Amino acid sequence: MTPAGSSGGRQPVHRCTACGRHDLVPFADLGEIPVYCGVHWASREEALASPLGRMWLAYCPECGYVRNLAFDPAVLVYDTTMDTNLHHSPAFGVFSAELVKHLAGRFPLRGGTVLDVGCGQGEFLRELCHVAACRGVGYDAMYAGPTGPDPSGATFVRGHARLDADTPPFDLVTSRHWFEHLDDPYSFLVRLRELAGDRPAYGYLEVPDAGYDLATAGWEVIYPHVSYFDGYSLRRIVERAGWRMLATGRLFAGMFRYVEISVNAPPPVNGTELPGGESPGPVDRDRQLASIAGFAERHAAERERWRSTIDRLVAAGDRPVLWGAGSRGVQFLHLADPDRRLAAVVDVNPRKWGRYLPVTGHEVSDPATLAGSGTRSVIITNPAYRDEIDAALRQLGVRAELLVA
Ligand SMILES: [Zn+2]
Repeated sequence: MTPAGSSGGRQPVHRCTACGRHDLVPFADLGEIPVYCGVHWASREEALASPLGRMWLAYCPECGYVRNLAFDPAVLVYDTTMDTNLHHSPAFGVFSAELVKHLAGRFPLRGGTVLDVGCGQGEFLRELCHVAACRGVGYDAMYAGPTGPDPSGATFVRGHARLDADTPPFDLVTSRHWFEHLDDPYSFLVRLRELAGDRPAYGYLEVPDAGYDLATAGWEVIYPHVSYFDGYSLRRIVERAGWRMLATGRLFAGMFRYVEISVNAPPPVNGTELPGGESPGPVDRDRQLASIAGFAERHAAERERWRSTIDRLVAAGDRPVLWGAGSRGVQFLHLADPDRRLAAVVDVNPRKWGRYLPVTGHEVSDPATLAGSGTRSVIITNPAYRDEIDAALRQLGVRAELLVA
């Protein structure tokens, strides 16, 4: 396979992080993209000056794992100014609450301890501690709330999980939308396996599904995501790190991938399995390899298609807007609207209102500002939020066509 675009410089040799059996092969050079897609700036000047980083995707022919070969952990520093919180969306809130019920029913957690690595603002862990009657320790460099014990039974640590000798013994480790950010996800799993020692332990990991991200336009191919896992490569990495895979599947309209793992523990007999359970094998790997083969071309075509779509909507006087200033939105704006031709960018998170998005400098507004604005086209980058955005538009009295990018 020929890598698309210029590969610029010598190719570093990088052994597959997931299976460890093959060197990674470059397949798509997306050039420079925003590093901080979860940060919003107080001024347009700061936003325009925010850093870029290179996205140079490579894959493993053996297991279908994908990684950014150009990732540089030194340029991406996580702190409390970042807001990657998805809990402002009702759809994500409902999904998360269902997941808490599932985990509390499936694993023996009563009186036990859950580690949540990459806990965000702690909503999920608090709820899990409450519903499962267990303790929890949450770690996140982006956690901005009070540290120390919380009435829910959760304790929060602001900073990356050190996973050292002070880490409490745990019955379940959860990590949602953090594993793909790690420079070395294999060592992370090995370390957790070591910490479990002879104790029975379970794990729940959730990542964006690479089968979705690489088979679509790729708006979720963002700098903070170092790794892209589908079911097969996720299975390979957890098993190579000494864990047993209990179940894997896709959730949230197929955009998320989960894996449940265990060590020294029997498969859980209580509760129910999550929907979409799969047993990924070489067939899944081959499907993933087919998505990878078409990705660079599809990504470039989608970028061009949306640039010309925005041109057409602006020319027709539609006052097109983007709804959703999360990481997908930031990536979409960088690729499809670098010259800020859209009439507005809106988001339901009030912390973003009046602030500016990285690199392109779009200002984020309250969706309520769309009422009476004459907008006839609303672009969204995340189909999972389609229904809630559609309902919100109707409530605002905005008669606009929803365009899913
Ligand atoms: Zn591999």
